[in-house]
Order: sequence, then structure tokens, then C-alpha cells
Amino acid sequence: MKQGIHPDFKQVKVRCACGNEFESGSTKKEIRVEICSQCHPFFTGKQKLVDTAGRVERFYKKYSHLDKYKGKADELEAARRAKAGTPETEAQS
Ligand SMILES: [Zn+2]
Repeated sequence: MKQGIHPDFKQVKVRCACGNEFESGSTKKEIRVEICSQCHPFFTGKQKLVDTAGRVERFYKKYSHLDKYKGKADELEAARRAKAGTPETEAQS
């Protein structure tokens, strides 16, 4: 490796917005991330639906004849109505 042209690669702390920290290798001093494996829905298994166009609701409506999805559309609709009444800015990532 040629000397003097490569940035220093070292162990650094990665800090997530959720408070989680872990070590990684980087040429930067510190890394800040907004989402990590501790808080991303994919890893937590929690569902985080971003359904602004009501697509999920439409899906539930379409399949409301199935027991599995019965009442789901009404639930979502009620939730959406309640939300529309009190407009709030959701932090979406
Ligand atoms: Zn995180």
C-alpha cells in the first residue's frame, strides 16, 4: 500500500438516533445514523406502516369477506379519520 495517500482506517463508534451504539471501521471519527439494526422495523419485527394513500385500507376492504381481515378496514378508517381531525407532522424516515 502506498504511504501517505490513504486515510486512516480505524475503529469508530456508530451512534444511532435510538441510542444504540456499536463499533465499526471507518475513516471518519464518528458515525451518526438515524436507524440501525436495533430500531429498524425489519429487525424489530414491529410493523411501521406508511400508508398515506389508504392503500392498506383498500386492501382490507377488498378482502373484508375473509375472516382474517374482517373489521380491519373499519379500524384503519377510524384511525385515519381521527388523524385527519388533528393534523400532525409525523417524523418519517
Ligand atoms: Zn437505532
